[in-house]
Amino acid sequence: MEELETDILVLGSGGAGLMAALYALDTNPKLNVTLATKGLFGKSGCTRMVQGGYNVVLSPNDSTERHFQDTMLGGHWLNNHILARTLVEDAPVVVHEMWEKAGVRFARDKDGNLHQKGLAGQTFDRTVHHGDLTGIEIVSRLSEQVRARGTRILEECRAVDLLVEDGEVFGAVLLPARTGEFIAVRAKITVLATGGSAPIFSVSSASLEKCGDGYALAYRAGATLMDMEMSQFHPTGLVAPGSRFNGSVIAEELRAAGGHLYNSENERFMGKYNPRFEKATRDEVSRGCYFEIAAGRGTPNGGVWLDVSHLGAKAVEELFPGMLERCFLIGRDLRKEPIEVCPTSHFEMGGVRIDRDCHSDLPGLLVAGEDSGGVHGANRLGGNGVADSTVYGRRAGLRAANTALERRMKKVDPSRSISAALSPWERTGGEQPQALHAEFRDVMWTKVGVVRDATAMSEAIDALQALQQRIDHVSVTGSRAYNLTWQSALDVRNAVTVGQMVAQCALIRQESRGAHYRSDFSSEDPSWTKNLTVRLESGQMRFGEQEVVREPAAAR
Ligand SMILES: Cc1cc2nc3c(=O)[nH]c(=O)nc-3n(C[C@H](O)[C@H](O)[C@H](O)COP(=O)(O)OP(=O)(O)OC[C@H]3O[C@@H](n4cnc5c(N)ncnc54)[C@H](O)[C@@H]3O)c2cc1C
Repeated sequence: MEELETDILVLGSGGAGLMAALYALDTNPKLNVTLATKGLFGKSGCTRMVQGGYNVVLSPNDSTERHFQDTMLGGHWLNNHILARTLVEDAPVVVHEMWEKAGVRFARDKDGNLHQKGLAGQTFDRTVHHGDLTGIEIVSRLSEQVRARGTRILEECRAVDLLVEDGEVFGAVLLPARTGEFIAVRAKITVLATGGSAPIFSVSSASLEKCGDGYALAYRAGATLMDMEMSQFHPTGLVAPGSRFNGSVIAEELRAAGGHLYNSENERFMGKYNPRFEKATRDEVSRGCYFEIAAGRGTPNGGVWLDVSHLGAKAVEELFPGMLERCFLIGRDLRKEPIEVCPTSHFEMGGVRIDRDCHSDLPGLLVAGEDSGGVHGANRLGGNGVADSTVYGRRAGLRAANTALERRMKKVDPSRSISAALSPWERTGGEQPQALHAEFRDVMWTKVGVVRDATAMSEAIDALQALQQRIDHVSVTGSRAYNLTWQSALDVRNAVTVGQMVAQCALIRQESRGAHYRSDFSSEDPSWTKNLTVRLESGQMRFGEQEVVREPAAAR
């Protein structure tokens, strides 16, 4: 087994991981920084998929207080107030620095100022963008800078477990897919930025290598997670059975520009659910679509119709070139006809509990981006996700650089993690992990999805328990290099752990709030304005509650 030493180990190469590596190195260029990522460097994760843009206060007519209020209202006041405040206050600095440091370009208006548009849930047009390629621009420019600074980059190299001793983190066990041979990395500080778990549901818009690894790693290491029941669904995922575009997001802008949703009876149904029709927030539109489909008024492939043809062919071509292209690829012409859409799993608001400098409960472990919880409360506003990953990635990098020198390195024995990861090789004739993974994602989608109730969730919890036991019997054969079945076995182990957290927390929260909707407790209950926590204690998943973190009176 190969062994490596590094001052700072960053896990993940989305907005959070890249910013962490960049700011650590710029704070102290003498530090040794290693970045390991499960996908390809610069080409993986959801930051690259960002189309809508980045929320930031730039106009003198806007204010960070207003952005804060929008964020809290969107999050139904479940957000950690200090984290939400930090997000809105740091974002203008970060957007400016991303340009200065990395040359990230955002679109400009005719006067040369950054162009800002509006997304749902905002009271001011504050979203900067790079057309519909915002994420590619951010990740490409940041990746260039991280590479240029001599960072050691390990791509297609997943973190399997954190190395923990006496509640402190000292690095991670990595598994490069290309060789299948483990690497134990000793680090003074580890930054977890593996980007959430949206694909634990069978219909998802997110990049598929993400299956909740970060949450599962942090949980096994003993960290506290919070708000795991808060899974966000985007209302308009493309319905394209058998195509890789199934579940991919049809941008919110189509509804914002006047797109209409219809059921199979040609009724523009959203008016029944919300007076703002298609312009209601993501959670409300997702539920409207879900109820129509569940009532048997769906399209042939189980969605609803989204139509923008009444805007005119020219407007569709000008406003939505990317979406037009995507629809052509599945044989539909957005200019002339409606397309089938349905809710798609998009984002996880929950995650590892952190403070504003990204500290988890575990010394040595910083967490940033979608792996962390608390910033968005019960619902994330479009445009606040990439702001979160870059604002907190930057903070993690600064913090890591400032504390790495104070921390010692420690050699922690990786053998338990390695034997757990190798266990599928010890069996023959076991089940295929890919099939288990698909079954798991279906359970999550049908029983813990857009609309939840106690009966379905209890069934899900039993099903997940049974899946957990079956995972202990999967077997893998062949070479260890590029063994997709083995990788899948590691994925499903983590995904089921995360699914259990989500389902259990969703069952405990007996109200509807933001993205979490229960048909058996369909209104918001003020007594539930508190966060649910989950952690591993004595081998069991333990659940708790905590008061929402509010700002000290003097800071308000
Ligand atoms: C289709 C889509 C569109 C979106 N559009 C917007 C938008 O317009 N505006 C907005 O604000 N937000 C948007 N979001 C949300 C936004 O993408 C996320 O909030 C943000 O990018 C998350 O950044 P991150 O760095 O935490 O994770 P990611 O960017 O997802 O990066 C995660 C990284 O971790 C790696 N990784 C995963 N597991 C492991 C492991 N075990 N070991 C090592 N590495 C690992 C992955 O390969 C990847 O490199 C969108 C999301 C989606 C899915």
